[in-house]
Amino acid sequence: MAVPTRFASRQPLTAAELLAAPVRYPSPARLAAPLQVGAGVKAREAAVSLGLLTVGDLLEYLPRDQRETRSAGALAAGESATIVVEVRRIATRPVRRRGMRPLVEATVADASGTLLATFFNQPWLAARYRPGTRLMLHGRADGRGRFTVQTHALTDDLPTGGGPDGAQAGVGHYPVTDGISSTQLLALVREHALACEDAIEPLPAALRRREGLLDRPGALRSLHFPLHEGAQEQGRRRLAFEELFLRAVALELRRRRHRLSVHAPVLDGARELTARWLAKQLPFALTAAQSQALEAIDADLASGAPMQRLLMGEVGSGKTVVALYALLRAVEHGFQAALMAPTETLAEQHFQTIQRLWGSEVVSAGLLTGSTPASRRAGLQRQLASGELALVVGTHALIEESVQFRRLAMVVIDEQHRFGVGQRAALAEPAPGGVVPHELHMTATPIPRTLALSHYGDLDVTELRELPRGRQAVATYVCDSDAERQRAYARIRAELDDGRQAYIVCPLVEESAALQARAAKTEYERLRQGPLRGYEIVLIHGQMRAAQKQEAMARFTAGAAQVLVATTVIEVGVDVPNATVMLVEDADRYGISQLHQLRGRVGRGHHESLCLLFGRRDSPRLRALASESDGFRLAEADLALRGHGELVGTRQSGRDDGHRFADLSRDQELLERAVLRARVLVDEDPGLSAPEHALIASVLPTIVA
Ligand code: ADP
Ligand code: MG
Repeated sequence: MAVPTRFASRQPLTAAELLAAPVRYPSPARLAAPLQVGAGVKAREAAVSLGLLTVGDLLEYLPRDQRETRSAGALAAGESATIVVEVRRIATRPVRRRGMRPLVEATVADASGTLLATFFNQPWLAARYRPGTRLMLHGRADGRGRFTVQTHALTDDLPTGGGPDGAQAGVGHYPVTDGISSTQLLALVREHALACEDAIEPLPAALRRREGLLDRPGALRSLHFPLHEGAQEQGRRRLAFEELFLRAVALELRRRRHRLSVHAPVLDGARELTARWLAKQLPFALTAAQSQALEAIDADLASGAPMQRLLMGEVGSGKTVVALYALLRAVEHGFQAALMAPTETLAEQHFQTIQRLWGSEVVSAGLLTGSTPASRRAGLQRQLASGELALVVGTHALIEESVQFRRLAMVVIDEQHRFGVGQRAALAEPAPGGVVPHELHMTATPIPRTLALSHYGDLDVTELRELPRGRQAVATYVCDSDAERQRAYARIRAELDDGRQAYIVCPLVEESAALQARAAKTEYERLRQGPLRGYEIVLIHGQMRAAQKQEAMARFTAGAAQVLVATTVIEVGVDVPNATVMLVEDADRYGISQLHQLRGRVGRGHHESLCLLFGRRDSPRLRALASESDGFRLAEADLALRGHGELVGTRQSGRDDGHRFADLSRDQELLERAVLRARVLVDEDPGLSAPEHALIASVLPTIVA
């Protein structure tokens, strides 16, 4: 098969490397020139800390706009943020201390929640900001519903800018840091305004016309010197499109190249094991979504190209069955298969499931984790290298160099979002001759479509949205009073008396694992002596030895223990269909997706199930969980509440989600168009050799250099 020669000898990049590598432009001198800040060391350092090293950096520095504002309901304790809100109530309040002017307190709200905002020293504001007024406030949140205002403005007064010489001096316009002011930045931008014209346009004119996009110099100009309402946003959108588009092109090229340069064993032979398993051993009928997933896998396996599939499935949607199918498909063709899980508890559980299903006569399987004793490990490694062992389940211990396979054809990665990208990539290392195993990545963290496209664009995606039949949504309640606590324990006892089981998730101690373990022990003792006296309770926390954890888990799985008191080690994957109640302490300290994962431990059988979240009743996250059971919709809500950065586990602040201009929480449509255009482009010109694509090729240096 023809491979574009300019790529032929290049190493493929991982998605993570691509994301980490900023797209850099061939910069003509004016844009590449170092930025002279002039006004002293402090300001220079501040500029550097904002990433403003060159004139080009400055001109690509996004002025403060909507995307910099946060949701009122989602602010963490101590967080400094800008919010756009409406005044609901406002009043002055006298201050006890002498010589101080009365405070102004205003109840303010946006769609996500309500805050009590405090203005110091400006009593006249109570008359000025009447209920109904829309304000932009900057200040600090205390995480408990109070917000101390540092600066404020009527939204109508917010600058929309003027021409390059328009009078906007002194207005908070650019996000800044200590040492440099927005006014200083504005002055610098003005000074270098002409350099906008030097910006190189990577997008072909035809594409820009079809998408109705400004050219690059024009976009930069509108960003800083908007001439009409909405011009700034137009500029941002253009730059965001470019950013998303170029990344999509890179991912698409990588995907293609990967498929052309490596191959995987063709697995399209007879289905003895899988057929027998599906017909005889599986205790239920597959859901339609599961069947479709199996079909997609079959098509991948028959193609000769390595499968690179991401299976996104709602918690409890039955991903394990799909995983086992994929593993068995390799085994029945005489190949080896590996299943990697993020925790020992989960690996152990999968291993037991496999043993229960098949017994060792049918498929020889081994378990390899960090706590596998050395002698055993040596034995397993020998059997894997010789090919004697068909199937191995394990943690990241599987990707250590000492673990060699004889003919590995299938790798399944469960809860793949829990692994570092590097760890995932290590498994995919090609063997000599460019042969790689098929890969199935599974995640229960529902990834909103935008993220799937932008971060996993090189994987094929299958969704399992449907839950097995007979499942009811887990009734979820937010509790915060003592009376509710007593009722909660009464309800748990009733379930236990009925033969069901319960999870209790301990108060969260983030400071250290040791403190967390102690808190867990204390809670365990308290429950044993008090509200759950007389019931069989086991405890699992992170500091226990693996064997102890295994024993506790086994007792709970077998039904010998009625209650599992645990830290969040049970968050991923644990499957005990007889468990029907979960009580989560300190629930408002967890994120939405984590709570959704936790909740997914119940409601797995046909019994009605219940989840009790102890935490602030007005927490928007807890409220979302109580009212919504669909993980995909919760993920969207999460995205809206938190902004996109946190969701992918990057730092929280502004743009550290790897995007400079795009904001995935609101640029969904833009992203979809960009991805579509990228696919079309790569289809038509996979070598990027057409003259109008030369600049695209040159701004993807991470691919071609
Ligand atoms: P997850 O997608 O969260 O990993 P699991 O694979 O652990 O979910 O499945 C959750 C539960 O549903 C398990 O107890 C499993 O046996 C059961 N299950 C899976 N598929 C079906 C099905 N088609 N019908 C009924 N129960 C199923
Ligand atoms: Mg699972």
